[in-house]
Amino acid sequence: MIDFQSILTTINEAASKEKNKGKIADYIPELAKVDVNNFGIHLIDNKQQNYSAGNSDERFSIQSISKVLSLSMALGLIGEKIWTRVDVEPSGDPFNHLSLLELENGIPRNPLINPGAIVIADILVSQLENPKEEFLAFVQDIANDDSIRYDVDVANSEKRTGFRNFAAANLLKSYGNLKNDVDVVLDFYFHQCSLSMSCAQLTNTFFMFMNHGKCRRNNIFLTVTQVKRINAIMLTCGFYDEAGEFAFEVGLPGKSGVGGGIVALLPNKFCVATWSPGLNPKGNSKLGMLALEKLTTETELSIF
Ligand code: GLU
Repeated sequence: MIDFQSILTTINEAASKEKNKGKIADYIPELAKVDVNNFGIHLIDNKQQNYSAGNSDERFSIQSISKVLSLSMALGLIGEKIWTRVDVEPSGDPFNHLSLLELENGIPRNPLINPGAIVIADILVSQLENPKEEFLAFVQDIANDDSIRYDVDVANSEKRTGFRNFAAANLLKSYGNLKNDVDVVLDFYFHQCSLSMSCAQLTNTFFMFMNHGKCRRNNIFLTVTQVKRINAIMLTCGFYDEAGEFAFEVGLPGKSGVGGGIVALLPNKFCVATWSPGLNPKGNSKLGMLALEKLTTETELSIF
């Protein structure tokens, strides 16, 4: 039997000793207020046993991790039609690059880069009567946790400085791949990214991706096929232009965000989340990646 707790404790000790913790994202000013010394890790296994170390209950801005949740809701609402508006190929580019979008006539490479997530946001705005409220309720329902909230200060901070996202949305609009008003779609997108969660809450939410689409209460949110597709997209597109490196070092599908969170999972076995706000040059949590590399090396558990 693997002693997850002692592995997480060792990982936390190593993280606290690490001198170079990476650089906090400051292009969204509100994110720069976080202390770089935070580190948390939480793991839930297939029997719903929980293990944790460090600041695993402190909430942080999940940012791009939310893109997996908006994709899941949109896929549930409109099904495979989604793939006419967004592709499923890795981009090999940073999350906010626009050049490919122009080359490929307004069809974003995948739903986890910003232009792709903005198209998904547009789909939700079209489908839902009260998009922000209904998306939040969807996430709370999966997690079975009514305390999950948007961080409105973070959303407003990004609204003031998200120039590249306004550029992406306008470009999408010019190609006819955005049906709603740019400001309305981005207001939804900035709120979605501002969701504030702890490592423990993230593993509760992502439990369904390791459990064939069923949440911890056994309610079905996605079909087995939809979960397969989303896990494949996380593996190939979940880490900006470092998805290859993450597969190489860690070997799990997952998603990172510029708030310093990473969530990853091994189907049928476990779901794990880390938080360390300092990022590496590619925008992924520096210590989070190291921690997950240690976890899959020590346990010898990965999809490979
Ligand atoms: N809201 C952020 C942005 O659009 C998300 C970036 C990220 O976490 O990758 O710039």
